[in-house]
Amino acid sequence: MGFTVHLPTLLLLSVAINVLIGGLLWAIFRLRARQHCFRLWALACVAFAAGSLLAGSRAFIDAPWVTVFLAHLFLGLSPLLVLAGLQRFYGHSARKTRRFRHGLNAVAVGYCLTLLFAFQGDPLNARFLTALLSAAIFSVAVYGLSKLDTTPSLPVGILKVLFTMHGVLMMSQVLVIGADWLGINQLHTGFGLRLILINHILLAMATALALPLLAFTQSEQRLRIMAERDGLTGLYNRRSLFREGIRAFDNALQTQSPMAVLMMDLDHFKQINDRWGHAAGDEALRFVARTLRKELRNDDIIGRIGGEEFTVVLRISAEDDVRIITRRLLDAIANNGREIQGLPLYLSASIGGVERANRHTTFADMMIEADAALYNAKNKGRNRAEFGNLTPETTVT
Ligand code: GH3
Ligand code: MG
Ligand code: MG
Repeated sequence: MGFTVHLPTLLLLSVAINVLIGGLLWAIFRLRARQHCFRLWALACVAFAAGSLLAGSRAFIDAPWVTVFLAHLFLGLSPLLVLAGLQRFYGHSARKTRRFRHGLNAVAVGYCLTLLFAFQGDPLNARFLTALLSAAIFSVAVYGLSKLDTTPSLPVGILKVLFTMHGVLMMSQVLVIGADWLGINQLHTGFGLRLILINHILLAMATALALPLLAFTQSEQRLRIMAERDGLTGLYNRRSLFREGIRAFDNALQTQSPMAVLMMDLDHFKQINDRWGHAAGDEALRFVARTLRKELRNDDIIGRIGGEEFTVVLRISAEDDVRIITRRLLDAIANNGREIQGLPLYLSASIGGVERANRHTTFADMMIEADAALYNAKNKGRNRAEFGNLTPETTVT
């Protein structure tokens, strides 16, 4: 039994899916503070549906201006709108965006005029031109996406694969038509173009489905960052710090490996705010976050757990000396925090530290001890560190 695809059915299905996804993208545009890329993508879906419908009606209507010229105008504009939307989605500077938009407008006008000149009632000319334009646009899109460094990378990867396949398909359409014109075509042109059209419709549907995925993953990421991170410094917030700290503690307990907790509080921070203003205080907090990130390792857990209170969970090894690390942090803050953004803030911090020992049964035990040690460091004059379970050599000044 031979397998045949009923092209009109596939075409109608594609039109219906593109209209539905176009509607969905339009709804996302309305709901999401009018993020314009979704409107552009909605228009791209509708343009593709309109172009397909008009081209498909060629069998019933004898009006080449509508079924060839207008149809291919829509079909050519569709990938242009997808590209414009992508540029908006990953939006760079306003100037770059404007330049890009001018470029796309020029390409759209150029395409329209060339189509007008070239089509002369022959659908093959229009198909050649539209395929050439689409192949170029998909190449630009793949190039643009490959230069992005975004997480999660799955939706971008999916789009890259779809655009590459689409670009190759459109280029093969150009070659098939070109070979036909030159009389060197080995295949049956009608069969080849039909095959390309079927794949083109399938890829267009897949691309339309992949676009809402981008919206979904972007929201997901934004919400996760908002829930996990402190808005001012980008460090873990209190809840995430505890979650990660508990995980690190359980792991260290299981493997009987060392770990340490440092609780840090900035000294006389209220005075800094009172004297230099809240904005200067915020800048000082960002400076401390930068310093902690710079001085510590990537797998250390750093959080801002309160106004001017930070906590660090160190996954140390037996050779690491927590006192040396602590000294380095205090020095970096005191030395580089003398002047911040031209203001003489003379920032300093106090630290309460604790290393994991058998007396700790939970992460909270370590936090309580670190807090008590911090209280000690404050009492002993600030800009210093004290360690839990005090012995004479536990002071760092
Ligand atoms: P100590 O040396 O004893 O820690 O004194 P301190 O002034 O640092 O401590 P206190 O708890 O009295 O003051 C903390 C200040 O931190 C008060 C508050 O205005 C400030 N603060 C808390 N959160 C923020 C913030 O997000 N931005 C700014 N700029 N200041 C903040
Ligand atoms: Mg405090
Ligand atoms: Mg303080």
